[in-house]
Amino acid sequence: MSNENITVANDIVVSMAYVLRIEDGQLIDQSEDDAPLEYIQGARQIIPGLEKALIGLNVGDEKIVEVKPADGYGERDPDDIVEMPRGNLPESIDLSVGKPLKMKDSESGESFKAYVVESNPETVTLDFNHPLAGRTLNFHVKIINLRQATEEELTHGHVHNDNHTH
Ligand code: ZN
Repeated sequence: MSNENITVANDIVVSMAYVLRIEDGQLIDQSEDDAPLEYIQGARQIIPGLEKALIGLNVGDEKIVEVKPADGYGERDPDDIVEMPRGNLPESIDLSVGKPLKMKDSESGESFKAYVVESNPETVTLDFNHPLAGRTLNFHVKIINLRQATEEELTHGHVHNDNHTH
């Protein structure tokens, strides 16, 4: 049940429609008409710059939020662009420029993405920066629904809905 008296605040489940563009107007992502993004405010599920800007909004409110890299995906780090011998990578993988590669850190087990930025017969250059690092993000959001998170959702740190219950 939604409640018209609640506004976006910590421990509130927010359902919102959004369109994300970057500074040059390029469309990056948007929610489907029948599937708004749902998250728990204050649970660090969305980028901090966006989360902060939504505090106090009501159901039906629309807002355009500009998020600088520092409050978004961070600045691009030139040290995260690495040239390595082709032999370091399995022969089976496609190393065309622009291809995302899924890598796994053998020590921590953490998986992350890298993008091929240059490909030569001997070497390949990978960019480990997030593709949106260094970008100013422009969100157009509309609040669709607000409700109090359940104890269980707060314990789990995520929203339970038709697609996800446990
Ligand atoms: Zn859960």
